Amino acid sequence: MKHIIILGDGMADHPVSRLGNKTLLQYADTPYMDMLARKGKTGRLITIPDGFQPGSEVANTAILGYDLNKVYEGRGPLEAASIGYDMKPGDMAMRCNIIETQDGRIKNHHGGHLTTEQGDVLIRFLNEHLGNKRVKFITGIQYRHLLIIKGGNKHIECAPPHDHPNEEWAKLMVRPAAGKADEDEPRSGRMTPQETADLLNNLILQSQQLLASHPFNQGRKEQANSIWPWSPGYRPEMKTLHELFPQIKSGSCISAVDLIRGIGRYAGLDIIKVPGATGLANTNYEGKAQAAISALERQDFVFLHLEASDEAGHDGDLELKLRTIEYLDHRIVEPIYNKVKEWQEPVCIAVLPDHPTPVEIRTHVKEPVPFLIWHRGIEPDEVQLFDETSCVRGSYGLLKLHEFMEEFMKIR
Ligand SMILES: [Zn+2]
Repeated sequence: MKHIIILGDGMADHPVSRLGNKTLLQYADTPYMDMLARKGKTGRLITIPDGFQPGSEVANTAILGYDLNKVYEGRGPLEAASIGYDMKPGDMAMRCNIIETQDGRIKNHHGGHLTTEQGDVLIRFLNEHLGNKRVKFITGIQYRHLLIIKGGNKHIECAPPHDHPNEEWAKLMVRPAAGKADEDEPRSGRMTPQETADLLNNLILQSQQLLASHPFNQGRKEQANSIWPWSPGYRPEMKTLHELFPQIKSGSCISAVDLIRGIGRYAGLDIIKVPGATGLANTNYEGKAQAAISALERQDFVFLHLEASDEAGHDGDLELKLRTIEYLDHRIVEPIYNKVKEWQEPVCIAVLPDHPTPVEIRTHVKEPVPFLIWHRGIEPDEVQLFDETSCVRGSYGLLKLHEFMEEFMKIR
C-alpha cells in the first residue's frame, strides 16, 4: 500500500451567516472529497498539542507523526532547511516576514503579497546595510524570509504578525521569555535573551528606516516597510519518517511553503519543487497533482500541501476561500483519485486541513479538523460528506496529534 496525504492548509472554518450558517467545506462544491468521505472512513484530529500556538509548522509536524515536545524548534530552522542553509552550532534561525505597517499598526503580514523576486531585492538590500558577523538575512519565498543570528538565544517571546492584524507593532516587539533567565547560556557563547531581544528590536527599527526610503516602495499603494522576525530556534533533532515508519522507504514532500519543505527535509523526504507553485489560488494545481502522481509511481509516500485556503482565510476573503476549496477538490483530489484508484499496488488517500483559518477571524484557531481516509476496499463508515460537522460521527472518532499518522500507516 502506498500512502498520500493531501493537505488543504487552513481549510476548516466556522459556520458563516452569509452562507446560511454553513461552513465553507459544507457550502463549497466538493464532490470528490464528499465521495471519498462516503466511500472511506472519517474522523477528527487534534493537530495542536497543549501549550503550542496553532501554527502550520506545529500542525503539519504533528500530522506527520512527530512529538512536538521533542522536535519543535520553530519556523526559522525549518525554513533554513528548505532553502538549503546548513545551520551551524550556535546559530539561531528565525522566520523574517516583510510586513506592511501603517499609522503605527501592522496592516498585513505580507507587505502586499510580495513576489519572491521583490522580496529578494529587499532582503539583499537589508543584508547589505544590517548584515554583519552576527546578523545574516537570507531570501526565502515571497514575504517569508530568514534571519540568522549567530549566538542568538531562543528564549524570547515574539509575535507572529499574522495573528496581530491592526495591532500596534510597538507593543508587539521582542521580549525575553518569562522565567527563562536561568537558561542564559553564557558558556556556549550565546547572548542572553535580553541582549537577543534588544538586537532584534533594533533591527526592526532600522529596517523601517531603510525600507521607507527604498525605491521599491515609492509610489506603491501597498508598502513593504518593516521586517518582522519571529519563531526562533536551533537545529531540530528529528528522526526521518523511514526511521519512524520503516515501510516508508522513500517519499516526497510537495509544497510551495518553505517551512513545510523544511519539515519534509528533516523528515527525510525528497522536496519536489513544482514550477508555478505559488502558495496562492493561482498556483499550478495541475502541476502539483501530476508531481504527486509521478512521485507515487516510484515511492511509498507523498505529502502534498496546498497553502491557498490559508492565505484566503487570513485575507478574510470568503469567495476566494470557497474557490480554493473547490480547486483542491476538482484539480487535486479528482485527478489523483482518478489516476491511482485502479493501480495494481493500492494507494491510500488521506485529505485534511492542518487547522481552521476562519475567514471571519482571519487567523488560525486551535480546534480539531476533519479528516478522511480512503483506499480501494476500505469498509466505509456512515459519514456521507467531508466537513467539520459530518466527520464528528466518523468511525475514527477524535484522534490526537501523532495518532493520525500511526493509524494511516497501519493501513498496509
Ligand atoms: Zn496552516
